[in-house]
Amino acid sequence: MYKEAIRPAWAEINLSNFDYNVKQIRAKMGNDREFIGVIKADAYGHGAIQCAEVLRENGVKTFAIATLQEAITLREAGATERIICLGLTPDMYVDILAQYDIIPVVDDSRNARAISDAAAARGKTIDCLIAVDTGMGRIGYLADDLNYAVEDIRRIAVLPNIRILGMFSHMATADAFDKTFSHEQEARYNRFYDAVTQAGIPLPFRTLANSASIMELPTVLFDGCRPGIILYGQYPSHEVDKNQLSLKPVMQVKANIVHLKYVPPGFSCGYGRKFIANRPSAIATVGLGYADGYPRPYSSKARVIVNGQICNVAGNICMDQFMVDVTDVPGVKVGDEVIVMGTDGVNTISADDIADATGTINYEITCAFGQRLPKVFVK
Ligand SMILES: *Cc1c(COP(=O)(O)O)cnc(C)c1O
Repeated sequence: MYKEAIRPAWAEINLSNFDYNVKQIRAKMGNDREFIGVIKADAYGHGAIQCAEVLRENGVKTFAIATLQEAITLREAGATERIICLGLTPDMYVDILAQYDIIPVVDDSRNARAISDAAAARGKTIDCLIAVDTGMGRIGYLADDLNYAVEDIRRIAVLPNIRILGMFSHMATADAFDKTFSHEQEARYNRFYDAVTQAGIPLPFRTLANSASIMELPTVLFDGCRPGIILYGQYPSHEVDKNQLSLKPVMQVKANIVHLKYVPPGFSCGYGRKFIANRPSAIATVGLGYADGYPRPYSSKARVIVNGQICNVAGNICMDQFMVDVTDVPGVKVGDEVIVMGTDGVNTISADDIADATGTINYEITCAFGQRLPKVFVK
């Protein structure tokens, strides 16, 4: 238990493991490429300010976030690095870009004009990245609509207070075993780059690669890479070759037993009575629930580790608490530690285990655990 957590449940963030992952990724990427640390969504739930500090210690000079608020949070914590906002910025908010020196992605010259005007009003010039949709289908100039794109980017290039830093796109299936579509995206990216630069508009900074690309697509690393999930010691999918990169999980989720009782057969637990004891049982209560990111659909499959034993969760996970069948844990007592996600060195419950059991991906699991649980940073 940690006094500063003010509750007997916490996400333990291991910054030594984060540092280890950064160094492994740097070695994989090579030294001559820009390392863009993707710390959106509070660093996938791990704490953006603390993760930024470790990136900084490793010489990382560019961060990427998804929302302007995330950039503001970093700036207010003293970050002086380049910050790329990976989402589009509607005209209404462009002054924030200028105020906090944030690099936007842009796919429309009218939006670029609004950005340029906002920068001019503050006597600044804003760097931007041209967003290109090479196959993600999300944002960006359609890569195959080259004539329109070149014409519109030309309109951006002549704006006085916005400077085109380079070109950005995002991979849709880099984490799949079959790399066919990734290579199609790469080809579209290169065609687009050639068309724009041949029109006399330089794109000195090219960035395309996400985590899976860094692991398995060495030809798309270009000038800067954007590792996200691998920073946190999680692999982007089950289809990537894990031997490509050694990683250590950064987040564990732990709690303490707050209540323990011995009950007869027939005793039931939780909403809907999904657990009914079929033997004299020991039932522990833990103060952590789905509002902390422990997915309710996991309830029937959920396992935790108590004193070296794997135990079943008893009944449905509640919003703020859940129960565990600790009948087979000898000497169990109130205050004993419960590993909800993590390892005791012998048994492990990974983010992937929880994700696989609930039809989602490890990304969503760590983001969700990052929402309300107090974070305890360890080295
Ligand atoms: C989230 C994100 C990344 C990082 O993706 P990972 O799979 O976590 O490496 C990179 N680029 C963009 C545009 C993103 O949205």
